[in-house]
Amino acid sequence: MFGSVLIANRGEIACRIARTAKRLGMRTIAVYSAADADALHVRLCDEAYPIGPAEARESYLSTARLIEAVQRARAECIHPGYGFLSENADFAEACARAGVVFVGPPPAAIRALGLKDRAKALMEAAGVPVVPGYHGERQEPKFLKEKAYEIGYPVLIKPAAGGGGRGLRRVERHAEFEAALDAAIRESESAFGASRVLIEKYIAAPRHIEIQIFADRHGNVVHLGERDCSLQRRHQKIVEEAPAPGMTADLRAQIGAAAVEAARAVRYSGAGTVEFVADGTAGLRAGAFWFIEMNTRLQVEHPVTEAITGLDLVEWQFRIAAGEQLPLAQEQIRLNGHAVEARVYAEDAENGFLPSPGPIAALQWPAGIRVDAGVEAGSTISAFYDPMIAKLIAHGATREAALDRLKSALEHTVIAGPRTNLCFLMALCRAPAFRSGRIDTGFVDRNLAALGGVPHQPDYAAAALGAARLLAQSFGGTAQTVALDGENSEADSPWAARDGFQLGGPRSLTVPVVVDGVSLEATVSYGADGIGVAVNGAAPAQDAQTFAAGEDVYVLRHGRQTRLRLADFAASALAEAGEGTIVAPMHGRLLEIFVHLGDHVAAGQRLAIIEAMKMEHTLSAPFAGTVRAIAAAPGAQLVEGAEIMLIERGETR
Ligand code: ADP
Repeated sequence: MFGSVLIANRGEIACRIARTAKRLGMRTIAVYSAADADALHVRLCDEAYPIGPAEARESYLSTARLIEAVQRARAECIHPGYGFLSENADFAEACARAGVVFVGPPPAAIRALGLKDRAKALMEAAGVPVVPGYHGERQEPKFLKEKAYEIGYPVLIKPAAGGGGRGLRRVERHAEFEAALDAAIRESESAFGASRVLIEKYIAAPRHIEIQIFADRHGNVVHLGERDCSLQRRHQKIVEEAPAPGMTADLRAQIGAAAVEAARAVRYSGAGTVEFVADGTAGLRAGAFWFIEMNTRLQVEHPVTEAITGLDLVEWQFRIAAGEQLPLAQEQIRLNGHAVEARVYAEDAENGFLPSPGPIAALQWPAGIRVDAGVEAGSTISAFYDPMIAKLIAHGATREAALDRLKSALEHTVIAGPRTNLCFLMALCRAPAFRSGRIDTGFVDRNLAALGGVPHQPDYAAAALGAARLLAQSFGGTAQTVALDGENSEADSPWAARDGFQLGGPRSLTVPVVVDGVSLEATVSYGADGIGVAVNGAAPAQDAQTFAAGEDVYVLRHGRQTRLRLADFAASALAEAGEGTIVAPMHGRLLEIFVHLGDHVAAGQRLAIIEAMKMEHTLSAPFAGTVRAIAAAPGAQLVEGAEIMLIERGETR
């Protein structure tokens, strides 16, 4: 076994790898960008080396800087985690040249599987069933369109170099093909620096079934069963489980054998995941699953496999990289119970799942469940990286039990500051279709409204509670409990409090507050019983928690966050005057502007695209009007709040 490891990653996966490495007695070495100097993974490791600025391209994706760090630290191996350089064959080769072991498959296998079209061709040759489609070299739009027609709609256009759901475009009709192809190519070029695509038949009611495999360097290959990752939003996994609902031992053996075959076909070693899409219209069944791609690394969702096998997959990765034999043979691998993982993201589920970076004002993890997190109270969710905050992994004897445990854990999770998808995940855990295992990859998108993934009414009761806390903080005393008895000392006396107290009957005054960016009024009434606070007629919620941070108060209620601050009159007046100012919703790069100076735009019309946190976000016109100014050019790196353009209100002619 190795004596030391450099972990070429950050966040929860860096922390998770460090834990196993420590248990195996290794010296753990972290690397960090300028944005991560205080990050949890840095503190968890024995040593840490800075590797450059916040931009991943110049730090976590810089082969040169990582190799320099590994040489300074004299690490024996590098674990790449997932994402970043984990599937980069050049990096794996650079490690070998530098005399350090890359904990992952041989570069040739990474290369063979790195492009979806090549990987499919390889699998086809090895006799593994692949999704019907076109995965050849020719790329003329007209030719691809003909191929799509032959395959039959709906089809899926995929960047050959793709990953993370980026650039995938589902096309329903022949007439929509060109536009979808353009979009897929544009996104592929921006994300992967490559334009080649493949076309696939879109499988009806698709279920994402993937097999965890392990291969050692002595020719042994096993699989650790499947994971079902069908709960996705825009082709990105949200909740994963193992085993797959409806899986039988026979079918598992059949898909498992196909996955093992896939690994043998490329002389694989290490951990890998062979992904299949299954036709879910009539449950899982033989002959109705097809290879889509193989990931040559550890997956985000590996903990559900760990939970049901009782194995530590990172330990297996280290053992294989050190040249050991696989710890178990196929028949020694047993699956026990059921596990579900939920990915908790810093994103605003009610507002297009926009990333919501920023400092964490309060944080509490639930007890009695595995939590893989890369942050703690006081950490900041950086706009430079993926917005995942943590993974909660529940294990139970049955699927029911695991789901109940996950639901309760979500309810006992407290995260204030960034907005999160907690409320959305709770709704998913309650959804009857999911509870009964009737899911496909379109389930979430079809049920967004029912799951709470759409704009909501403000939570006025939460706002009233927040207002009470704000007023208590700002004006002294606790607004809900100021007692009007004349026995108080001078300082405690209501006569001394600057709270507007007057003699006589009940009175009220209004205090302007900003609730999640919207100006509202809190009504404060004074009577013989004390002071009451209401917002929009609602009394303070009794079933919520409040947290204060700086000028803000955060109210958490049923997984939903309401943020309040006292209105600053000057600022709100300005905001009103500038109501048509289109600003960057977060740090990011302006990809494209679709309008020109003087253009008339309709309400909701697409104005620009900004790329941030690995996603493209469309900015649209808040109302009909005229483009009066454009303040940024495509390609510009923008900070949150930077002005992009100004729309003057007025009907479009
Ligand atoms: P990426 O590598 O970008 O994640 P994948 O090829 O893995 O892209 O596809 C992402 C998701 O889209 C998969 O999890 C699967 O559920 C779904 N998917 C992929 N191919 C098909 C297909 N041909 N038909 C239906 N769904 C598909």
